[in-house]
Amino acid sequence: MKYYDKLVFELSRKGRTGYSLPANDFPVAEAVPDSLRRSEDALLPELSELEVVRHYTLLSQMNFGVDTGFYPLGSCTMKYNPKINEEIASMPAFAGVHPLQKAEGIERIYGEMEKALSEITGMAAFTFAPCAGAHGELTGLMIMRQYHIRRGDLARTKVIVPDSAHGTNPASAAVCGLEVVEVKSLANGRIDVEALKPLLDETVAGIMMTNPNTLGLFETQIDEIASLVHGAGGLLYYDGANMNPLMGVVRPGDMGFDIMHLNLHKTFSTPHGGGGPGSGPVGVAAHLKECMEGIKVSGWRGNFGVILRAYAYILMLGRENIAKVGEYSVLSANYIKESLKDVYRLPIEGVCKHEFVFDGLVNDGAHDDVHGATTLDVAKRLLDFGFHAPTIYFPLLFHQALMIEPTETESKETIDAFIDVMREIAREAAENPATLQEAPHSTPISRPDETTAARNPILKYQDN
Ligand SMILES: *Cc1c(COP(=O)(O)O)cnc(C)c1O
Repeated sequence: MKYYDKLVFELSRKGRTGYSLPANDFPVAEAVPDSLRRSEDALLPELSELEVVRHYTLLSQMNFGVDTGFYPLGSCTMKYNPKINEEIASMPAFAGVHPLQKAEGIERIYGEMEKALSEITGMAAFTFAPCAGAHGELTGLMIMRQYHIRRGDLARTKVIVPDSAHGTNPASAAVCGLEVVEVKSLANGRIDVEALKPLLDETVAGIMMTNPNTLGLFETQIDEIASLVHGAGGLLYYDGANMNPLMGVVRPGDMGFDIMHLNLHKTFSTPHGGGGPGSGPVGVAAHLKECMEGIKVSGWRGNFGVILRAYAYILMLGRENIAKVGEYSVLSANYIKESLKDVYRLPIEGVCKHEFVFDGLVNDGAHDDVHGATTLDVAKRLLDFGFHAPTIYFPLLFHQALMIEPTETESKETIDAFIDVMREIAREAAENPATLQEAPHSTPISRPDETTAARNPILKYQDN
């Protein structure tokens, strides 16, 4: 252990200071009753400025972020967040604005964002209140409910969700008080339209889908699905968390979707991870504008700082370059898929969109693993080479799922380096699987017990 790996509490020395506050001239003693005052001083570390700087700088280096390495996390769109977004969001005129302040410039940004997102998606109007993708889903489903309730069609309480869906879809439907009905995928990864038909009765509120779906595959029968669902009186909800492959190429509105959300913190290049802040604006087709009006899901009009970053990103790219995002993200994903499919199992052949799924390492067919090395081991070993792991064991359709989404922001050299490392790891699995199973070897923490770490996390300093 290096000296500065110690906690700030261990480095603390009584009386050491890095900052001094001006003398207090407020009569605290009279203002705060005894019952509310501390009986002893708070346990705070006492350090010099230099020690504090080292502490936080070292902490920041223990973390993995898109600014420190390639982050091919499928279904997450971990693209580079251009620094101009941050520069604009930190301008005092924006950073200091109060949520209730009526400022002409702010109104204009909301107006132009609504116009830009409507144009990109083919929707008629947007609300910016939702603060995450899942929050957007809930909002969208509340709009769907409103639509049926206003028509007096109260029996429509079922939502159809494909088995490949992101986990938040069935969860949001349940939170909205709707019943979830699953529709199976075919062996080619697309929705089984024949299995969908019998589910479409007078109790169906709608279907939640994403296209391309969570396997990165375009639902080629979307026209037929849309007319079947509409014909049965239901609405189509589009999960647009990952709009990357479609931007400037195809619009959910034109595919027949009535309601959708976007994740500005994925597609529109604002930082995410670690719980936010996010933004999941919801768009609706013209016939649902009124159903959206009465719905209130947050105190303000969403996270303005995130909306502003996305606005800067859209203006920076402009109309022509928005379409290149889609093209390059699809090209990067297909390039990796084709370069690795002789060493990682590709369960569904063909062109993918922005992401794709491998089913573990190529093996003898009788086992999931190679000499005991599994998808988890591949993911852990990648960290030793400075790459973040892909999404693993999701979607649930494949036992050893490795879901890769490179995004459009990586250079060909970085993508080639990733391909080389993935091939090297496949070689190691065959020749020396222990190297994988004991990985990572170079990170601050190697392999915690993942269940204990998630269920009983120790998140604060324990004084003893
Ligand atoms: C990320 C994601 C969500 C959820 O978004 P959050 O902002 O994390 O709530 C929903 N659907 C898909 C397809 C996603 O990738």
